[in-house]
Amino acid sequence: MAELQLAPYAVTASAHGRKISEPAPSGRSEFQRDRDRIIHSGAFRRLEYKTQVFVNHEGDLFRTRLTHSIEVAQIGRSIARRLALNEDLAEAISLAHDLGHTPFGHAGQEALNACMKDHGGFEHNLQSLRVVDVLEERYAAFDGLNLCFETREGILKHCSLENAAKLDEVGERFLNNRRPSTEAQIANLADEIAYNNHDVDDGLRSGLITLEQLTSVRLFAGHLNEVRTSYPNLAERRVVHETVRRMINTLVTDLIAQTEQNIRAHSPQSVDDVRTAPPIVAFSAQMYELNRELKAFLRTHLYRHFRVMRMTAKARRIIGDLFNAFIEDSRLLPPQFNPEAESMRARSVADYIAGMTDRYAIREHRRIFAIEEI
Ligand code: MG
Repeated sequence: MAELQLAPYAVTASAHGRKISEPAPSGRSEFQRDRDRIIHSGAFRRLEYKTQVFVNHEGDLFRTRLTHSIEVAQIGRSIARRLALNEDLAEAISLAHDLGHTPFGHAGQEALNACMKDHGGFEHNLQSLRVVDVLEERYAAFDGLNLCFETREGILKHCSLENAAKLDEVGERFLNNRRPSTEAQIANLADEIAYNNHDVDDGLRSGLITLEQLTSVRLFAGHLNEVRTSYPNLAERRVVHETVRRMINTLVTDLIAQTEQNIRAHSPQSVDDVRTAPPIVAFSAQMYELNRELKAFLRTHLYRHFRVMRMTAKARRIIGDLFNAFIEDSRLLPPQFNPEAESMRARSVADYIAGMTDRYAIREHRRIFAIEEI
């Protein structure tokens, strides 16, 4: 990064540093160190066996939370570099953004949130922060990964005001209606670009959605026509890849152009200016609408497809069963998740369940409920 002149509103140093102060790293930046700690964490490796849309055992080529996070980081870094922002910070946030996800994707998160409704709820963004602040046990001197403030604030994408009030300085922006850094804003939209596009690809590969159906989505149809016109004899899988590739490029290019325009309009001179300005990183109004149309299509035709719904229902049952079993009889819990204090039990059970991979949760369910298992 050293040779690249960063924009004046790029994050170059941490405003609040790390909670536990540490000597500055040598040979790498603070945000490179954050990225490296994230990659070496146990929670990061578990992402390999956590569902994005398709459960891991449904096929080897589908995205998992790990490959999703790597794609987000790729898109986030490209955008950050083009805008002369801190690529290392955008990468660190992107790689960490899903660390708190439960097994079984959104179905798992909804189920765990329902289980936790009388115990403060469960929210995956807050859980991602909890993973890097508390739950990782790797370092002698501190719990968690002791990341920089800017990485932590980027990980906490959303937060209710009630929860924000209980947090340290990462909660303040929600209470004061401020924005996070441009790098965090980039990671947020890179996430959206990544999943909308890879869900199209995975959806087509699974056969749950078809090319024919997707022609009702303008963003897809436009690029599909281009590809078919230029390459009339191309095999279908390549048509899909070529179309998705072009969609990603169009979204990224639009985002960069609109963001540059917003930067000219608000002319931020510092990170603080970014925090008080309206969101700087954005799609154009037209692209926002096209992207919204794609999301609506995926919601109706993929996320609510009956085969996905069956898996969702199963996931909900597994999570609910496990939670209830552990709450009813804490002796079933592994000792490290069984706190002495009664008041800590529900949160500890939620931490245990949230940390499970899809297949671990399925196995644990069998171990507890199947009579023939030992
Ligand atoms: Mg994500």
